[in-house]
Amino acid sequence: MARIYLDNAATTPIDEEVLEQMLHIYRDFPGNASSIHEEGRRARSVIEQARKVVARALNASIGEVFFTSGGTESNNMVLKRAAIDLGIRRFITARTEHHAVLHTLESLQRDRGVEVVYVRQSVDGKPDLAHLEELLAIQSPTLVSLMHANNEIGTLNPIVQIAAICQRAGALFHSDTVQTIGYYPIDLLSLPIDFLTGSAHKFHGPKGVGFVYIHQPYRIRPYIDGGSQERTMRGGTENVAGIAGMAKALTLAGVHQEEREVRIRALRDYFASQLKKLHPAIQFNGDPFGEGHYKILSVSFPADARSDLLLLNMDIEGIAVSGGSACSSGAEAGSHVMDALHKNSPLKTIRFSFSHLNTVEEVDKVLAVLQKIYQIGH
Ligand code: PLP
Repeated sequence: MARIYLDNAATTPIDEEVLEQMLHIYRDFPGNASSIHEEGRRARSVIEQARKVVARALNASIGEVFFTSGGTESNNMVLKRAAIDLGIRRFITARTEHHAVLHTLESLQRDRGVEVVYVRQSVDGKPDLAHLEELLAIQSPTLVSLMHANNEIGTLNPIVQIAAICQRAGALFHSDTVQTIGYYPIDLLSLPIDFLTGSAHKFHGPKGVGFVYIHQPYRIRPYIDGGSQERTMRGGTENVAGIAGMAKALTLAGVHQEEREVRIRALRDYFASQLKKLHPAIQFNGDPFGEGHYKILSVSFPADARSDLLLLNMDIEGIAVSGGSACSSGAEAGSHVMDALHKNSPLKTIRFSFSHLNTVEEVDKVLAVLQKIYQIGH
């Protein structure tokens, strides 16, 4: 049975061209990028070429881009080093951020005694900007960490407005852009974001590689101590093929951005319109048809016995979707995002997330399976 993969917010299948590029690097560039011989210099040039690609995609300078192992490390690096090196004592964030931000801030609160405050949000996960301004009125070195798109419900934060508010208040602004890099253009020349984070596996690149953008005036010290890789910002032998693969994936995402968006949006909207006919009690979370990421559709199903086993039954039928964010233990752990926005809701929420590789036929099969599970006709 050919499986149907609709969990593209958890991770995306690697692009064939990216894989080819990585195999080429593994075969033909075997050196350690820190070695001074020719093999080393050749590996180094692959990394520096990739840095140019990432910097150009964001309209940043190459000195502002550092490669890491992915979104989690990048978020940890920014938040922890901002507390240590930049004297940040107060963090403003939201309850619906990814655990890579929330748990990092909890650990800073525990270990360093920083203050963490949460901006109020609407039920679709949008921050209350007036409340943000109020929170920023308190005089203390502050960093605001608000993501671009929520990974569970897709809600897009107005990062242009948030950046302007932070700038006016003299606060630093970090945005976890893991879900939007490669999907929405981000121009750092016109957008005053101080730190942002990306992860290759979310845009059809390899897993275990990402980057962090650190706006030039800010000097933070390494999060991972070791050798002098990444201009002493991150010790450890560089993942040359992974970095090259990420740059290739980002290039492809840029070249095909519009056509992929049109395709993904059409699929998602078709799915949503058919779902609505399936069961009158079905609800969509976030603001999918307004300010929402076009690849994500978070759906709440009525609370009943069929919904309890929905994820499992869909998996048995060959469909990969998810309940909340991908959980590291592999268990279904509920969703802190849904808990924050819809406290004690009995509804069962499933996140469907699409890529340009999905087809209408797949969506029709998913609808047929849901219809079978709920045993009701159109
Ligand atoms: N931030 C967001 C919004 C995410 O969706 C994810 C991935 O699930 C991460 C951070 C973590 O990224 P990575 O898997 O590269 O560590």
